[in-house]
Amino acid sequence: MDAVDLGRMLERLEGKGYKEYHNLGGSHSFARFTLFIDRVQADPFAAPSRMRVRVAQEIAGFDPQLFSGKVRRVAMQDFLVRLFARSIRKNVKGHRGTGKSGFVGVDSGGQEILERNAATINERYAEIRFVVGLPAAGRRCLGREAAAVLLDEVPRLVESSLFYDNINREEAAAHVKAAEDQEWLRSRLAREKLVAFVADGSVLPRASGISEAPLAGDRAVGFRSPPELRVGFDLPNRGWTSGMGIPEGVTLIIGGGYHGKSTLLKALERGVYCHVTGDGREVVATRDDAVKIRAEDGRRVEKVNISPFISNLPFGQDTSAFSTENASGSTSQAANIIEALEAGSRLLLIDEDTSATNFMIRDELMQRLISKDKEPITPLIDQVHNMYKEHGVSTVLVMGGSGDYFDVADTVLAMEDYQPRVVTAQARAVASSRPGRRRSEAAVFGPLTARVPLAGGLNPRRGPREKVSSRGLGTIEFGRQTVDLAAVEQLVDPSQTRAIGDLVWSAHRRGLFDGKATLGQVLDRMLAEVEEGGLDVIAPVFGPSAEGGAVAGDYALPRRYEIAAMLNRLRSLKAGPASGGAAQVVLSGDDSPN
Ligand code: ADP
Ligand code: MG
Repeated sequence: MDAVDLGRMLERLEGKGYKEYHNLGGSHSFARFTLFIDRVQADPFAAPSRMRVRVAQEIAGFDPQLFSGKVRRVAMQDFLVRLFARSIRKNVKGHRGTGKSGFVGVDSGGQEILERNAATINERYAEIRFVVGLPAAGRRCLGREAAAVLLDEVPRLVESSLFYDNINREEAAAHVKAAEDQEWLRSRLAREKLVAFVADGSVLPRASGISEAPLAGDRAVGFRSPPELRVGFDLPNRGWTSGMGIPEGVTLIIGGGYHGKSTLLKALERGVYCHVTGDGREVVATRDDAVKIRAEDGRRVEKVNISPFISNLPFGQDTSAFSTENASGSTSQAANIIEALEAGSRLLLIDEDTSATNFMIRDELMQRLISKDKEPITPLIDQVHNMYKEHGVSTVLVMGGSGDYFDVADTVLAMEDYQPRVVTAQARAVASSRPGRRRSEAAVFGPLTARVPLAGGLNPRRGPREKVSSRGLGTIEFGRQTVDLAAVEQLVDPSQTRAIGDLVWSAHRRGLFDGKATLGQVLDRMLAEVEEGGLDVIAPVFGPSAEGGAVAGDYALPRRYEIAAMLNRLRSLKAGPASGGAAQVVLSGDDSPN
């Protein structure tokens, strides 16, 4: 059909039953683009209809420089979706009848630049996937209103976002270059033996507890590196940029309450992602294997070797393959660390605000009164350096409440009025001048063990069919189970959450949980499939008949650590030991990344 035929058809649909909208399915040629109507909703209250607009590159005319290579392509796709979303706000009326009538939406994301499948740009075309609520009055088609959306509004959206001549070229180039700089910087950190970099002038605080927008300029104190840690990078586009480089090892962030400790750590957590220009954290980069660790009591744990932190339980319970339906604060925090290392992390980010006290410290007086053989917990303070020595695991730790950590920190930063100061030497001096001294309770951390997640622990069935869905940022419904990801703090976009559910489901369908592959190997394979085929490969499309084959544009790529977090929080997860029956060493100090 062409646009004229589509117009006639919509005219004929006026007043007909809603089901008649099904005849709209298929592709429609407009003068300068093609509109694909991939899936038509069943009624005006159902999920809105899925559509795509595609412009051939001969007509769209985008400069190939903007999407050459993976990093630029992802950033440019992100830019196009944002433009499209901006144009929706400007050009779409929105409400045209019952339920979702007249709604037009695109999955445009927040402060982070993520790989998502809402847009595609390549040598052949530029494409946006979006949704439209086909207008109705009750259950009657409002064909003329639909024509206003599809024949007036949609062409305006396309004109304003998918033609290179019509967009702000400087803005597009700046978006792509900013992302390129951030990725470049992140990839350079390891070579410089740094775990993170915070550029001078960065704005770290957010507008409020529920907004990721930057705190308004006049209220925010810009970041300034202490001279001892100041380093510079010659970024590919931005050029020379100075800031604070946090070295490998154990870094302690201390300081009084409200002086900006948690704000700095939060920025480091988010530094694994690229941020949009104007965010304030555009040049904050953290190694991409950083994982935020916190206490999470009540979570389930499946056969995790928490013995470096918890041993000698009453009644001789084994902690080298420890399971519980209801972990305590300290046990959950220990499991979160071991699971992060198992998934490949070598950088832990920890805040006292969200930690279990007995997991973090056990001071000298307590050691005197309660002997080690009566205390199953080996606090982090006694393993944090061992983790670095034995496995190359760095830790950045916010701890304003106990000076005991002075003994084990390689770098001590004091936050004062939102600015960091290096106080490593002073911290050592006060630590060595005190009379009593606590004794370390662990000589070694010991080997890391690998688990094999078993297919039998995954059941996507809900009633007669398989069904996996997500709700917001923090909930996945996997079959009949609800998986709670509220404590997984580096999940930043509900479209990542949606993708995690479908990734695990698709890996299950494809037999990736084969009873041999370790959790790390399953994650590798999942992500290799996405790398090769794009995010669409995880969509639950069974055969060509299903929904015309076109996948919704509402996935964003999650990191392996958040996928692992979902598996680890499945209450039905079953894991076995890696091949041979014995716990397998996955990484020793020698081959750990440095
Ligand atoms: P701490 O963890 O040291 O107790 P927070 O990081 O929670 O402190 O910060 C306390 C308050 O100060 C927060 O409301 C935060 O938004 C604000 N804040 C943090 N850093 C800055 C900054 N650089 N400029 C302005 N306000 C800031
Ligand atoms: Mg705090």
